[in-house]
Amino acid sequence: MADTYIMGIDLGSTTSKAVIIKNGTEVVGTSIVTQGVGTEGPQKAFDECLADAGIKKEDLAMTVSTGVGGSRFKQADLMINELKAHAGGVHAMYPEARILLDIGGQDAKIMSINEQGKLNNFLMNDKCASGTGRYLEVMAKVFGVDVSTLKDYDERAKGIIPISATCTVFAESEVIAKLAEGADIPSLIRGIDTAVAVKAAALVRKLGVSGPVYMSGGVARNTGVIRALENELGVPVKASEIQQLNGAYGAALYGFENLSRSRRNRQI
Ligand code: ADP
Repeated sequence: MADTYIMGIDLGSTTSKAVIIKNGTEVVGTSIVTQGVGTEGPQKAFDECLADAGIKKEDLAMTVSTGVGGSRFKQADLMINELKAHAGGVHAMYPEARILLDIGGQDAKIMSINEQGKLNNFLMNDKCASGTGRYLEVMAKVFGVDVSTLKDYDERAKGIIPISATCTVFAESEVIAKLAEGADIPSLIRGIDTAVAVKAAALVRKLGVSGPVYMSGGVARNTGVIRALENELGVPVKASEIQQLNGAYGAALYGFENLSRSRRNRQI
């Protein structure tokens, strides 16, 4: 039988991500485009993922979309709710995961997951930029660095300069003022990473769950936030190996399940 390729595509507010899986397991292509819903990012992520896998659009058995822009992507055959996609993605990689924290560009979600990888409960912060990737992007701009380098500064920090303002706009002014006073940049960046972790920890506690926390979303690529979160919560925090691609991966897995089910039904 010919190989079955399925694409999962996660269209977020700031970033478009795609994953192609072969025969339901092997990841053979990925793409991350830092343009989200409403831009050409979704189409770019689709095309780049096909190119990465070395296949054509016609070779795809199915495309499953997810994320805030999931319903608007015309190339998709199916759509899956992003919470379900994230739960399914993390469960496939870490069957023991019961708590998943997803921090994206403009929101943060905490989910509890059962033994079958199904969503039990969730809470979301989509009202306030602090505690999301947006906050980190605003701060990275103040330092004139890319958001991906914040973790390197954090690693070099010998101390921490806490940020007291909770609102992103005021926190930005506070950071600018501290910089002007000659504050140590790595310590200031550790303070920024910690501010995100404090918000995320509050969300985790609000859901009333305990035990190891698994993380997905772009912010899970920032090891400074992960370390600060471990300090805040006092439990291990493990970033999914595919962090930012977890939702797209979960969508692709959902597509494979769906296809296998309809093939089985046809045989009956
Ligand atoms: P969304 O799905 O909401 O568009 P993502 O889950 O893709 O968001 O996460 C985007 C956020 O991830 C960015 O705002 C940024 O803070 C963070 N991010 C993206 N790439 C990196 C990286 N290489 N290192 C650290 N953080 C990153």
